[in-house]
Amino acid sequence: MLVITKKYKLVSRDFCPKNTLVKVGKKIVFGGKEPVIIAGPCAIESYKQLLEIARAVKKMGAHMLRGGAYKPRTSPYSFQGLEEEGLIIMKKVSDEVGIPIVSEIVSTDNLALFEKYMDMIQIGSRNMHNFDLLKKVAKLNKPILLKRGMSATMEEFLLAAEYILKEGNPNVVLCERGIRTFEQSTRNILDLNTLALIKLESHLPIIVDPSHAAGRYDIVAPLAKAGIAAGADGLIIEVHNDPANALSDGGQSLTFESFKSLIENL
Ligand code: PEP
Ligand code: MN
Repeated sequence: MLVITKKYKLVSRDFCPKNTLVKVGKKIVFGGKEPVIIAGPCAIESYKQLLEIARAVKKMGAHMLRGGAYKPRTSPYSFQGLEEEGLIIMKKVSDEVGIPIVSEIVSTDNLALFEKYMDMIQIGSRNMHNFDLLKKVAKLNKPILLKRGMSATMEEFLLAAEYILKEGNPNVVLCERGIRTFEQSTRNILDLNTLALIKLESHLPIIVDPSHAAGRYDIVAPLAKAGIAAGADGLIIEVHNDPANALSDGGQSLTFESFKSLIENL
């Protein structure tokens, strides 16, 4: 008999010793030998903007395109995203460029839209504890990118993933995106301790988001490299065609040139 002593079960390595492979479409595999690179803007701003970024990042080696249509902004006065129009733009760009897409869902009101348009659905840091959303998104049976709550412990993070697996959806990719600490000189602190420990504790793939961890473009590359060195199964990186004029998170977005040099250096 196998006695599970932890609060989480389905996500634990005790329960399933072999690494889980999460597939997106036919070609992309998280948890395999090659790290998966997701790149794109913080927010979808227009068809022209997203098409230009998608073409550029694909050419430079990105496997998937990111972009927010519903933006969970700290201030209600900040750009909130193009919403449904953003998802439609993203799907069009995806078909045109031939790159799978991931975007963040913030409300159960939009389940049908995400089911229709997205290849992978992101649950953001601010919604990691939104258990109703976790359960309902799980039921769509799409691969899920689950970001760690910025103040969540490892156990809380894994229990959030447990909610999804418990609904019968095993296709969860975890994402370490930085946590809040006393340190104020960067937006968050990339917690590679937890990344390394999760590789031992869980069979789920885990990727790193150096952009939201850093909050500034000039330390994204070293954090990305550190994440891969620590065993991350991939990266999600904000890249913009014109970071200075981005509607969201321009200060942490890489230019095409800096993204290219990061990918070459990896
Ligand atoms: C994002 O990836 O667009 C985002 C808002 O990230 P996080 O949920 O990690 O803050
Ligand atoms: Mn962002």
